[in-house]
Amino acid sequence: MKILLLEHPRSITRERCNDIANTPLSSCLLTGYSAGMLQSKGHDVEIIEGYLDKLSYEEIGDSISTAKPDLLGVHMVYHWKEDHALFDFLARIKREIPVSAITAYGFYPTVAFKNILEQCRAIDSVIIGEPEMPFAELASLVPPGRPATLIPGLAARDGSGSIRHLQQKPVEDLDGLPFPVRTEALSRLSEVNILGSRGCYGKCTFCYINSLYGPGPSWRGRSPENIIAEIDAVITERAAGDFYFTDPNFFGPGRKGQERALRIASLLKKRNIRFGIEGRVNDIHDKTIGALVDAGLRHILIGLESGRDASLKRMNKMTSVAQNEKALGILRKHGVEPNVGFIMFEPDSSLADVRVNFEFLRRNDLLRNLPVTANVLYHHQIILEGTEAYDHLRKEGRLDTPASSYEGTAYFKDPAVAALADTMRQVTNTLFSHMEGIWSGRVMEPPGARGRYARINRLLAALFEDTLSALEKGERPGKEEVETLVQGVEREIACALKTIPM
Ligand code: SF4
Repeated sequence: MKILLLEHPRSITRERCNDIANTPLSSCLLTGYSAGMLQSKGHDVEIIEGYLDKLSYEEIGDSISTAKPDLLGVHMVYHWKEDHALFDFLARIKREIPVSAITAYGFYPTVAFKNILEQCRAIDSVIIGEPEMPFAELASLVPPGRPATLIPGLAARDGSGSIRHLQQKPVEDLDGLPFPVRTEALSRLSEVNILGSRGCYGKCTFCYINSLYGPGPSWRGRSPENIIAEIDAVITERAAGDFYFTDPNFFGPGRKGQERALRIASLLKKRNIRFGIEGRVNDIHDKTIGALVDAGLRHILIGLESGRDASLKRMNKMTSVAQNEKALGILRKHGVEPNVGFIMFEPDSSLADVRVNFEFLRRNDLLRNLPVTANVLYHHQIILEGTEAYDHLRKEGRLDTPASSYEGTAYFKDPAVAALADTMRQVTNTLFSHMEGIWSGRVMEPPGARGRYARINRLLAALFEDTLSALEKGERPGKEEVETLVQGVEREIACALKTIPM
């Protein structure tokens, strides 16, 4: 059977240019894993990289028309606005090309399947959760023989038009899955993405990682040997030397998780590669980090999230400020400056929370590097369906969902916090759109840029502190005053960056 898998074009507006939650990083291999599974069942599978190859819907339509697939799979990613371009495109495809079935998969469809099936009649079914097994079964039914609603993990309309689905179980043996297919477009990225585990044993209220997997064990790891076999295959095929583990949590829980990480490190050491990982601060231990660095660990993202224990508790982070600081110390001791996840503004934040956060960042040298400073001083909590925070705020009647039920806006309890968050967001958005080319690696950093970054860095930290201090004294700048302030800082940023070609 001919199967086409589509990574559709993504539209990211200026206001959202640096928001990271349109889909988790670990989703980047969902299409590759689906293709691997379908190929292993003997199907002819092609992947269209609409996003990475910057294809228009016109060009994608031509490719589909040429390929004439029996089944079209769409890895659907949330767009942050009511964007019907994809739905209109799929409706046209269904009308004009004899595709027997269109199915959507991914994090967003898993949570919003009802909404998607109601809004887009061209989509026949939605895979809920991990895509490999439902895809394999669905492909064996196309053209339809038995109702798709009987496939675990698939939501579809029944004969009466009602939407039905059966829950699937998470894949128990990750080593049993075929390796993901990697396209030419993926090979142009600076690092090869690899998924060594799925899910996370944490339960942070703002996180939607585990919503993809449903009930069952929350963290599942591949064996170190299976991971290394995939890395060896990639090294042989592409002579690649840089890898990034897209696992939401590289470390499994407890002692076993550390032992597994040590085993991975011992196997990686012989490969002479560099790699990055993401993890929780309570899993950062001296011995394991030392071994991983020895094996090529160069980048790590750790979720600090806050500098106040009360906020960490509110987010159910199950970590403490002391653990945050200890993790920073261990990583720096081994020469790794971490990238950090940090939520400066929560819906329930008080000015006191924000002040403690700011002092934590300053005390821990996290306001010295412009890309980090810009991120930690503006991040607000994004509230997506499938998270505990979403359910909680909706129950409290504090969630506004004007554009899509998938994302809600909860107004800040404290208007002073809202004013600071808004000011920082406006200013940093200007910076992110100026720097997008350089920070994404598409544009070379010109000589002398570092000096200008340092100036902007000081400017951002001063803007934050001055505005916070004024708010603490009870001053409440009016809209016009904020606009003037923002424009002033934006002018200075533009001036500092003016010799950098964009
Ligand atoms: S530790 Fe990270 S991946 Fe795990 S639940 Fe929390 S935010 Fe999600």
